[in-house]
Amino acid sequence: MKITTIGFWGAYPGQDSATSCYLIEQDNFRLVIDLGSGALSKLQKYTDIPSINAVVISHFHNDHIADVGAFQYACFVQQQLGNLSRSVPIYAGKDEAENFASLNHEATEAVPIPKNQAFTVGPFKIETTMTEHPRPCYALKISNQDRTIVYTADTAYFDELVDFSREANLLIAECSFYKGMDGSGPGHMTSEECGTLASSANVGSMWLTHLPHFGDHQQLLQEAKEVYTGLVKLTSEGQTWES
Ligand SMILES: [Zn+2]
Ligand SMILES: [Zn+2]
Repeated sequence: MKITTIGFWGAYPGQDSATSCYLIEQDNFRLVIDLGSGALSKLQKYTDIPSINAVVISHFHNDHIADVGAFQYACFVQQQLGNLSRSVPIYAGKDEAENFASLNHEATEAVPIPKNQAFTVGPFKIETTMTEHPRPCYALKISNQDRTIVYTADTAYFDELVDFSREANLLIAECSFYKGMDGSGPGHMTSEECGTLASSANVGSMWLTHLPHFGDHQQLLQEAKEVYTGLVKLTSEGQTWES
């Protein structure tokens, strides 16, 4: 299983970069997690559109879905050109009915994320838990036979996230705020909370993502390291983990 960061910003993309988007590959199956602003352009550096087998959307905030419409056009055009013969499934929660229905398009199909139940996408088993966020949002646990990646999506810190993330080989933790700030209102975590989560859940390694447009990101790294002694990195476009 290989994961590549396509976009890592929270809220809006910095220059020549994208908000939340990750590509997970195994056995020639390509799964995209979130399609934030700028993601579709960046994604094509790492895969062509017809090779994308499925998409999972964590929630309907713009920094996670801004490029869904562009992706739908891309799939439609590729279908017309004869490069794509199937409809591409886009998995998301059904909590927001209108937004969920908008995932249906000529070449894409909305598929509900089942509540409290694991589901299979290609070679991957996916488990979810609802996060602490102003909009319904799903953290994702993506596993193959022997490796597990947990993506927190957007969330404030909450204790159950520790159990959900336990022993993950890689934790991709949203890190929107610096130590000492309070992210609970907007539903985001601080660097210190990411460190606490990684340490309590005893994960193999951690990436900090959904990074803020203020301060020095190196400080986020140092603050997480004060709590978590494992391997921790800031995400950047093109960064990969393979195991
Ligand atoms: Zn976000
Ligand atoms: Zn959000």
